[in-house]
Amino acid sequence: MTELRDQVDTRVHRWVRPDITGLAAYPVPDSTGLLKLDAMENPYGWPDALTAQWQEVLANAQVNRYPHPEAPGVKDALRTVMNIDPRWEILLGNGSDELIQLIAMAVSGADRTILAPEPSFVMYRMIARFLGMDYVGVPLTAEFELDLELMLSRIEREQPAVVFLAQPNNPTGNLWGDEKLRRIIEAAPGLVVMDEAYTAFTEADYLNWLDDYPNLLIMRTLSKVGLAGLRLGILIGDPAWLEQINKLRLPYNINNLTQLSAQFALEHFDVFEQQTAELTRQRHVLQQQLAALPGLKVYDSQANFLLVRTGPGQAVALHAALRDAGILIKKLDGSHPLLADCVRITVSFESENQQLLSALERHLNNA
Ligand SMILES: *Cc1c(COP(=O)(O)O)cnc(C)c1O
Repeated sequence: MTELRDQVDTRVHRWVRPDITGLAAYPVPDSTGLLKLDAMENPYGWPDALTAQWQEVLANAQVNRYPHPEAPGVKDALRTVMNIDPRWEILLGNGSDELIQLIAMAVSGADRTILAPEPSFVMYRMIARFLGMDYVGVPLTAEFELDLELMLSRIEREQPAVVFLAQPNNPTGNLWGDEKLRRIIEAAPGLVVMDEAYTAFTEADYLNWLDDYPNLLIMRTLSKVGLAGLRLGILIGDPAWLEQINKLRLPYNINNLTQLSAQFALEHFDVFEQQTAELTRQRHVLQQQLAALPGLKVYDSQANFLLVRTGPGQAVALHAALRDAGILIKKLDGSHPLLADCVRITVSFESENQQLLSALERHLNNA
């Protein structure tokens, strides 16, 4: 047995790319039994009547058959709900993570670079690594604003194949302002992907900028709206771009159950709109309440989470204390120099937010 074990290890190291064996896998902490305020999920379930209707729809699913390769029912429903002009094509992914991967694959190659402001969504960097591409992270200012001059000079120097701009940004929650965004899109020689994962929680909406720029794509997801378990990401843009990216998509990437469920959910989208509107209200309330606690700095957010800075060196203990109290939030301290002492808290409904606040209050008063 040990001999086989050794042989496996030898061959793994001989054949798997060294830049892959050197990577750490994306950590997803065990959340069993914990109140989950770490991953920007919608905490609401569906009304019972809607669940019953959905289950009827699923009862007719033919899982012995391959799904429709283009998911036209889902795309039509998306066009209606998101008001997508017929001039633009839609490409669906197994979450927007898959879309990031497909976009990167389409432009990858020796000396091809992905550029993004930092800190931002970590998958931009990780996927660049998976594909052996160069990744350039351009630091935000200390207040998480876009450093326009630095961005422009890095774009000029690196000539990136893709620039990813998350608006609102994760994990900082803020918007960077139309003027700066326009300057960046105009300066970028390659694609610019505006990642609108949090579109349900903000007034900002860059879909109509597709009219202005030949190098812009808009990316969205149903995850943060309340369908994280479905895995459905949405890429919107000019058919000429999407036609090429689509060639890299594996056939049937959107399975039968996802197609039926997404179409059903989109036909009842008012339910999700009410939920996300309430979560947006709760974000304002929670921001005030957190800011009133001793020693915490809370940043303005346009998303369904709040970025919080603790006193110096306090983030790890605060994260652990909440965990001991049965609450899981995201520790950001250590992930990027600008995020020292930071944690990220997903906004939930009132009673769960109160549970968080009481636990935080107990911890901060004992610290
Ligand atoms: C959560 C998130 C995504 C990924 O969403 P999925 O559709 O669940 O893969 C993409 N971009 C940003 C900025 C996010 O925060």
